[in-house]
Amino acid sequence: MSSGASGDPEEIRGRLERWIDASWDPDLSLLQWRRRLLDAGWACPSWPPEWGGLGLSAASAETVTETLSDAGVPGAPESVGMHLAVPTLLEHASDDLKARFLRPSATGEIVWCQLFSEPGAGSDLAGLTTRAELDGDQWLITGQKVWNTGALQADYGLLLARSDWDVPKHRGISYFVLPMRQVGVEVRPLRQMNGHTSFNEVFLDGAVIPRANVLGEPGEGWRSALTTLAHERRLAATRRTGSRRDPDGRVWREALTEQLAASEPHKWYPQRAGRVDLLVERALAAGRTSDPLVRQEVARVLAAARSAKWTAQRAAAARALGRAPGPEGSLGKLATSVIARAASRAHSLIAGASGMLSGTDAPLEGTITEIFVSVPGQSIAGGTDEIQRNILAERVLGLPKEVAPEKDLPFRLVPRNG
Ligand SMILES: Cc1cc2nc3c(=O)[nH]c(=O)nc-3n(C[C@H](O)[C@H](O)[C@H](O)COP(=O)(O)OP(=O)(O)OC[C@H]3O[C@@H](n4cnc5c(N)ncnc54)[C@H](O)[C@@H]3O)c2cc1C
Repeated sequence: MSSGASGDPEEIRGRLERWIDASWDPDLSLLQWRRRLLDAGWACPSWPPEWGGLGLSAASAETVTETLSDAGVPGAPESVGMHLAVPTLLEHASDDLKARFLRPSATGEIVWCQLFSEPGAGSDLAGLTTRAELDGDQWLITGQKVWNTGALQADYGLLLARSDWDVPKHRGISYFVLPMRQVGVEVRPLRQMNGHTSFNEVFLDGAVIPRANVLGEPGEGWRSALTTLAHERRLAATRRTGSRRDPDGRVWREALTEQLAASEPHKWYPQRAGRVDLLVERALAAGRTSDPLVRQEVARVLAAARSAKWTAQRAAAARALGRAPGPEGSLGKLATSVIARAASRAHSLIAGASGMLSGTDAPLEGTITEIFVSVPGQSIAGGTDEIQRNILAERVLGLPKEVAPEKDLPFRLVPRNG
């Protein structure tokens, strides 16, 4: 059923508030509540109406998100599924795949992970060597993926694998929806230097994928991969959480359990971003505010963080007006790395030798030490800083493209290690 919302923010807000008042029931299960939201179009308002959305613009969809949050009711899950799988499916998948996977992603019934990187293919993702072979009505997958966040908990993986070795490397890749829970898929957790285990290695040994689970045409997966990567690089903002309506009801009890499980692999992400928010408080607590070096570094980080936030807001405002994405978007990801590293340096100046402690004796019960060993990940995840600089150089500054002599060779002939 469509709620027939127009693009006017006040009209959308009013209509949704009335709908929530009439439809909210704290004793529903989370699944029942999300299905109710979806049926009315409010769970995923930017989706096309034929798939359960309202066809709203990104700006109007943001009004819906804010209204749900202000009303204290849960919306669709914050997940790899909603942020990466859904936009890629909407743009590239067959109607059959959309019908099977969009709705359960939005209700949280299925959990996704991203299976792109390999031991020999990270920045050079198009050099991947996981093999996909068609065998009757199914694809058989053999190879290894690595650094796959949340793979242990996932029901489905967004998988890139090579289905044609006789064409240049970008042209022989297919994009699959891989069922994770099968004998051909083995997930092994990796422990990181900050103690968390958010990543995994994923070994694929004859893993089976139904023939229909290909996004787009076989061999044309690179286009769909670019869509996923574009959404990954944009994935900076997190949804604010307002107060909860009927916090003891069943809907919120189940929503909190889900949030806790979903946030487990990302618990260290605030530390990865450098915890700029803690700098002044830490400098005051450590009695370091009269040290000119500390003052200078803290002011430098705060100024950079503030200007990055304004730049992101300018980019969002331009998008809301329907303007094409400008250089602000590309700069955003690099800015988060630069700021995280600068914040980590400032924290180490403030903490001094105590920053080398770990456990409960360390400043803020180990949070500061966790910043030092987590910040390097910010410059790698979703494309490294060097790769971001290459993109900026080529696409924003218009400099000549990186030389890639193997680009047009059939992949089988490209020299590789191993
Ligand atoms: C927190 C986190 C979460 C992640 N989650 C996932 C996930 O869920 N799924 C997934 O598939 N992957 C995931 N990754 C993997 C991530 O995408 C890769 O680590 C990343 O793309 C870099 O690849 P690599 O590690 O193989 O490094 P490499 O590509 O081997 O790079 C090594 C170094 O060489 C530099 N370099 C490489 N090529 C160039 C070039 N052309 N020009 C200049 N310098 C270059 C790099 O910048 C880097 O410094 C995650 C990584 C992190 C840190």
